[in-house]
Amino acid sequence: MNVLAIGCHPDDVEVNCAGTLVKCVQRGDKVTVCHVANGNLGHELINEDELREMRALEAKKAGSLAGIDVVTCDVGDLMVYDSSKAQRDLVVDVIRSVQPDFIITHSPTDYMPDHVAVSKLVFDATFAASVPHYRTAVPGKAPVTPIYYMDNLAGVNFIPTEYVDISDTLEKKIEMLECHVSQMKWMRDHDNIDFAEFVTTCARFRGLQCNAKYAEAYTPCLAWPKLITKRLLP
Ligand SMILES: [Zn+2]
Repeated sequence: MNVLAIGCHPDDVEVNCAGTLVKCVQRGDKVTVCHVANGNLGHELINEDELREMRALEAKKAGSLAGIDVVTCDVGDLMVYDSSKAQRDLVVDVIRSVQPDFIITHSPTDYMPDHVAVSKLVFDATFAASVPHYRTAVPGKAPVTPIYYMDNLAGVNFIPTEYVDISDTLEKKIEMLECHVSQMKWMRDHDNIDFAEFVTTCARFRGLQCNAKYAEAYTPCLAWPKLITKRLLP
């Protein structure tokens, strides 16, 4: 299968679904990660241009640890708007290029505006990408793709209906997360937050809910015709 994970910032996919993506690679799927935003405002000291480049490299490195392709729409932080046709078209182009069997993205109830905007952009783009006369930089069309929403940050206001056991891939997920040095080190030094521990705790909590050691949690996007009868998640 072709799997596409569309996160907002360069570390969001690692936080919420990397254990699942590693399992997808292990079962033979081709996995692509797309970041809509470039993460350029994600630090109080490093300037935007430098941080944009750093974070692109961090994301590529994280993907390379798991055999995952990484692409970006390169939109500035806090500049992601679901009302932007230009941004919707960038997401359409990624979908048409990848031709995914399913997409993982943020839930519409996540905690910050760029995440919520990405969720809506993906919802809108999956429909637009299926219309051949909707013209963007990438010609052609993609089927209306099933979407799974990944967990909200810290699991707040998210009731999962599907789980993926990531007990065997948690270690790789954390390795991938640690590639995002600009974020991990800053939070440890400045905010006294160990984000690896944070993410591990969330995975343990979701694991408790489904009788696994560690898990990641999802809900399907309930919209016609995105629902199918077979399980797509690993
Ligand atoms: Zn984010």
